[in-house]
Amino acid sequence: MGIALIWCLALILIRWITSKEFLFSYSKECVTIMYIVGVNIDVRVRSRAGFETERRGSHPYIDFRIFHSNSEIEVSVSARNVRRLLSFQRYLRSSRFFRGITVPNSSNILDDDYNGQAKCMLEKVGNWNFDIFLFDRLTNGNSLVSLTFHLFNLHGLIEHFQLDTMKLRRFLVMVQEDYHSQNPYHNAVHAADVTQAMHCYLKEPKLSKSLTPWDVLLSLIAAATHDLDHPGVNQPFLIKTNHYLATLYKNTSVLENHHWRSAVGLLRESGLFAHMSLENRQLMESQIGDLILATDISQQNEYLSMFRSHLDRGDLCLENANHRHFILQMALKCADICNPCRTWELSKQWSEKVTEEFFHQGDIEKKYHLGVSPLCDRQTETIANIQIGFMTYLVEPLFGEWARFSNTRLSQTMLGHLGLNKASWKGVQREQSGSGDDVDPAFEEMDSDILPQEPRLS
Ligand SMILES: [Zn+2]
Repeated sequence: MGIALIWCLALILIRWITSKEFLFSYSKECVTIMYIVGVNIDVRVRSRAGFETERRGSHPYIDFRIFHSNSEIEVSVSARNVRRLLSFQRYLRSSRFFRGITVPNSSNILDDDYNGQAKCMLEKVGNWNFDIFLFDRLTNGNSLVSLTFHLFNLHGLIEHFQLDTMKLRRFLVMVQEDYHSQNPYHNAVHAADVTQAMHCYLKEPKLSKSLTPWDVLLSLIAAATHDLDHPGVNQPFLIKTNHYLATLYKNTSVLENHHWRSAVGLLRESGLFAHMSLENRQLMESQIGDLILATDISQQNEYLSMFRSHLDRGDLCLENANHRHFILQMALKCADICNPCRTWELSKQWSEKVTEEFFHQGDIEKKYHLGVSPLCDRQTETIANIQIGFMTYLVEPLFGEWARFSNTRLSQTMLGHLGLNKASWKGVQREQSGSGDDVDPAFEEMDSDILPQEPRLS
């Protein structure tokens, strides 16, 4: 009887939340409140006209009214009454819940259903050739939860911070489920891959001897959540479709801000750090934000020149917390775009997935006459061209500096794969076009507005 009453109240509450109209204000406090009043703001916004999404749950809703007249655009942007929805993944969960459908409890994977082979793989979680795709299959699609939980344990974080393991699992399950499995690239497997790469970097001698448990904790949480609730399209797409997130974040690091705020929402909702002081929790949220925001590729040149200057002057002192956190930002940036530094077998799969996501965005842009974004046109682009540009203008400069900072076997291995993979794509390019020197002009411009999602890989 008591449970039925709670269900009833919860149902009424959710119906109220999803039916109430909210006007956005842009204060930091308001943004935080919006993210944690029980649910995250959804990336999809349904218009009053009732249009349905192209692929529900995979891409943000496009409000077609904005294409009709300027006055409607103004109404749409300035006096927007946006209907709040649960994030799609969580909507599915709660609707299943209220329909009485039992969902397999993925938090059990670490006990009863733990696959022997997956467990075996975790013993080599620090290997650079770790196959995250295989691991995801072995864990039945739970790679992010399994891997991150394992790393928390491995680094002694559960003990050090006196974490409740059930709360930790719940938090990680929520994180995994708030990634969109329909996205070919920006899904929970990418987050797991970035987290695994981050772990490899944290183990590097220069870092491991200087990092505190706090640094490791922030790094792993930021890596696991850095693309949370990613809609599968890039910032220019959100801006040109007048998406409310673009307005909310004033067209600046729109996605990264959303990932960060979503992560904060889940941290608070899970109560994972409720036993810590308010001051520490606020510090944690802010530092996780600094890490996630650093993955905005439009800021790459600023970070890279700062990194280069430090290395030229030789003044990085990892005893200094600010310097350590700067290095962790660089490490997360590397982890985020490390696909071309993996073995060819892994790297090629990532390249195909990200291109599929670009081209899907391009298809939507074509269909609705939005103007196709650079690198998103399947008629004119190829995987090889995109990858060669990506490697030349973004990956090589970053990893070159990283190797100056940490000149280890891992850095040399990564640069080795990068060179081999680039040569392989050049071979493919030659076969396709008869010449081998084409670099996509979109990368040459290095303009934040035209960079596609993958180079931001964020
Ligand atoms: Zn990413």
